[in-house]
Amino acid sequence: MKPALLFVFVDALGPEQAPMLLDAGLSLPHVATLRGVLGFSSGAIPTILTGAPPAAHGRMCLFSKAEGTSPLAPLRWLGLLPRVLHERERVRRVAGKLLARVYGFDGYLALHRVPPELFPSLDIPEKRDLFEGKEIGGVPTFLERAREAGLGVVTTDWRRPEEQRVQQLEAHPEADLAFLYLSGLDAILHRDGGLDAGARDWSKQAARWIHRAQRALRSGGREVRTVVVGDHGMARIEHTVDPRGVLAKVRGRFPKAFVFVDATMFRVSVGPCEPEAVRELFQGIAGELLDAGGLAERGAPSDGRYGDYVWLLPEGSLFVPSFVGGAVRGMHGYDRASRSARAALLSDGVVAAECLEDLAPWVLRELGLL
Ligand SMILES: [Zn+2]
Repeated sequence: MKPALLFVFVDALGPEQAPMLLDAGLSLPHVATLRGVLGFSSGAIPTILTGAPPAAHGRMCLFSKAEGTSPLAPLRWLGLLPRVLHERERVRRVAGKLLARVYGFDGYLALHRVPPELFPSLDIPEKRDLFEGKEIGGVPTFLERAREAGLGVVTTDWRRPEEQRVQQLEAHPEADLAFLYLSGLDAILHRDGGLDAGARDWSKQAARWIHRAQRALRSGGREVRTVVVGDHGMARIEHTVDPRGVLAKVRGRFPKAFVFVDATMFRVSVGPCEPEAVRELFQGIAGELLDAGGLAERGAPSDGRYGDYVWLLPEGSLFVPSFVGGAVRGMHGYDRASRSARAALLSDGVVAAECLEDLAPWVLRELGLL
C-alpha cells in the first residue's frame, strides 16, 4: 500500500523560523531552504500549489489593477463614512463579506486600509478558494490533479481556527493526500517582528497539531510521509518610509495614474513616459525600481496588471501608512534574493526541491501521478 502524504503548509516558515518547530519536538530530519518568489503569500501559495512561477499563474499581490469595470467599485461608497469609521476593521470586514456574497467570491479577501476612492481602479485576482478550485490562472493545482485521479484528498478550511482545521483532517484518516494549512505564525511574526514567546508557544502547539495529523493518517493502517513547508520568512522592521510625499507627487504630475502602496512595494502605472520620470518620483527613498524587465527577471507578472513599475523597498523597510496596514514589527515581500524571501522545508525523507516551484511536481511524483 502506498504511504499517505501529509503536506503541511505553514505561512511564514522561513529557515530562521524552522528550528523552533524542531525544538518543539517535531521530528523531521531533512531540513532544507527553498528559493521563494517575489511578492506576498498571494503569489507564493499559488506557486506551491501549481509548481508554476507567478509570471505563469499571474498572482503576486492581493490587489491588482482593474481592467474595465471593477467588481470592487461599489466599495467606493465607504468613502461617504468618516475615515475613523470606514477604516475600522469591523466595518471593512462586513463590507468585504457583503461584496463576496454578492459576487460569489470564496477566496481570501481583506480590504485592509485601501482608500475608498481607489476601489474602482482595483481588482482582486483571487476570487476562488485556492484549495478547492481546479486551477489558478489556468494552471491546475496538485490538489485538483490528485482529486481528478480519484485519490482521497482532504484540505482544511482556512476560515476556521487552526485547531478546527486539524480536526477536519482527523475526520479523514483514509485520505491519500492531507493538506494542512497553518496560518497563525505569520500573524504572530508580523506583530512581534521576531522569534519571541508568541512564536515559541505557537510552534509547540503546531508540533502537537502535526503529530495529531500524522497519528490520524497512521490509524488508517498506512505509512505516512510528512513534509512541512513555508512560503517565505519574516524580516524585522528597522525603518519606516512615509509614502505620502510620493503619492502627492504622482497625483500632481500624473492625475490618471494607477497607484497602490503595498507594505514593501509602491506600485504605479503612469502611462507612456521615460523611466527616469518614474525614478524621479522616488528620489530620496531607498530601494529599487523594477520595470517590466526587472519583474520578468524575477519570474513575476510583467504585463502591468500590478502596475508598470514597482518601487521595492530594501529588506527591513516598510511603507507606513500603506493601503494594507499600519506599523507592524515584521514584514516580508522583499526581493527574491533577500533572507526573508526564502522558505523552509522539513521532511522525513529527502525531497528534491530547490525552490517553491519544485514542490508540486514532487508531490505528484510521490502520488504516482507524474
Ligand atoms: Zn504575512
